[in-house]
Amino acid sequence: MRAYPSVIKSKLPQVGTTIFTVMSQLANEHQAINLSQGFPDFKSDEELIKMVSEAMQKGFNQYAPMPGLMALREEIAKKVALLYSVDYDPETEITVTAGGTQAIYTAIAATISEGDEVIIFTPAYDCYEPAVELNGGKVVFIQLLAPDYSVDWNLVKKLINQRTKMIIINTPHNPTGKILSKNDMLSLEKIVSNTDIVVLSDEVYEHIIFDKQKHQSACKFPHLAERSFIVASFGKTFHNTGWKMGYCLAPKNLMKEFRKAHQFIVFSVNTPIQYALTEYLKNENNYLSLSAFYQEKRDFFVNSIKNSKFQVLPSQGTYFQLLSYANISDEKDTDFAIRLTKEFKIASIPVSVFYHKNVDEKILRFCFAKKQETLEQAAEILNRIS
Ligand code: GLN
Repeated sequence: MRAYPSVIKSKLPQVGTTIFTVMSQLANEHQAINLSQGFPDFKSDEELIKMVSEAMQKGFNQYAPMPGLMALREEIAKKVALLYSVDYDPETEITVTAGGTQAIYTAIAATISEGDEVIIFTPAYDCYEPAVELNGGKVVFIQLLAPDYSVDWNLVKKLINQRTKMIIINTPHNPTGKILSKNDMLSLEKIVSNTDIVVLSDEVYEHIIFDKQKHQSACKFPHLAERSFIVASFGKTFHNTGWKMGYCLAPKNLMKEFRKAHQFIVFSVNTPIQYALTEYLKNENNYLSLSAFYQEKRDFFVNSIKNSKFQVLPSQGTYFQLLSYANISDEKDTDFAIRLTKEFKIASIPVSVFYHKNVDEKILRFCFAKKQETLEQAAEILNRIS
């Protein structure tokens, strides 16, 4: 089709199609085992699926209230109080969203204006930077480096200035599986106290955390909580990423602005699923069992490739495992990931795409949210690569 106007000025000139779509498509095309895009290959709980269809049968099929069903917001408030001993008011401080990405975009759209600076730690999940740019903000990158990906808080302090409007953190961290410690959170709290900096805390993997470590939610630190948007995801927690359901927590003044944007970005989100989640959340075990469930998968995967030529980096949370292939090849990680998909029929994500400068550390990300047999097949392939 002829396009008119034939030229529009791109607002995101550097951006192509997200790596998750690219690698999943390539995996399908080559019938490769897909450990690239993060999603489970097993079913969500039948009971939850039944609850959704029952809600539909009962006729809950029209618009939900703009901030989300009150009953669901109340259950979310109970969960947060149980886990972190902090009270969020369901009336004014909790909004149900169409997944984590929408919550992140909305928080940024609601707060970032032309010229505002936003600090992002790289490697970073890929939706932060374009969201800031679409809203006229400028991203300031701080690099975390393999193998431990820790934050240099002194550098953060140095890079803060009058224009710094937001700091985005992500714990447990995608793609590295690194978690922020209590000391990290205290350092951040100290840096932002008495400033007007807003924190966006992406905590979508809060329930997937290993080796008896505790998730340090921003809400547990009063001077962080008072300035934070905290983003959570039901898709990661209940194995249904395609439902696109999540929520955002924030103090009243921030949430007021969030909802002003939210109502014109999506207005409200899926009604029958909100009814189902309200019931499903009442059983704490539905989310408290998740860490053990995924730790078993992580351990199985890591153990079954221990004699391969890949080196295993630590994964403290999320359902991702980084593997270094420095002992196998010098190829660029993007080339290597494509070759593994085509030749060996296993798809992963090259970590360089999460850096703004394409730092290539010869590391790939593998998603282990998979059935035992998928992980066995994946290990069999990885063990053959030399
Ligand atoms: N969060 C998922 C991942 O990291 C991808 C989600 C998406 O494709 N947008 O793989």
